Amino acid sequence: MTMPSDASASRPCGICLLIERAAARFDDFIAELPRSWLILGDAQFYRGYTVLLAKRHIHEIHLMPRGEAHELLDELLAAGKALSAVVQPLKLNYECLGNQEPHVHWHIFPRSANDPMRLAPVWLRPESERKLALPADDRRALITSLRAELARVIPAGRFN
Ligand SMILES: [Zn+2]
Repeated sequence: MTMPSDASASRPCGICLLIERAAARFDDFIAELPRSWLILGDAQFYRGYTVLLAKRHIHEIHLMPRGEAHELLDELLAAGKALSAVVQPLKLNYECLGNQEPHVHWHIFPRSANDPMRLAPVWLRPESERKLALPADDRRALITSLRAELARVIPAGRFN
């Protein structure tokens, strides 16, 4: 039996393309940390939804040099702390999937007690409901607060 070929192997990595845009002052930029980029995600139904992208293109975290992986995880913890302080969620959902883009990244979803689907994975909510944009002033305030919290933990980051 012939296995289907992996079409993703022949196209550029979508995360690497996203990082290039972030480096060029991408609109959703929150911070550049030593091992990662943090950007605001497009599903602000979950207010504060962010994505942490490893700087290194690698498809599994266990393939990273150990020290580098630990530094990356420290940045994930810092992002989670900042989100907890700013958004005060019922629970944070950290998702490291990489099935569509073979590049280590985490989706960090703040979950709310008011969400009737709070026990379900976020992906079960229809995309048309998930992909909400915040009002511009709320979005600016959110990013400013996240940067302030992150800067306390990772002063070596770039926040503007
Ligand atoms: Zn990549």
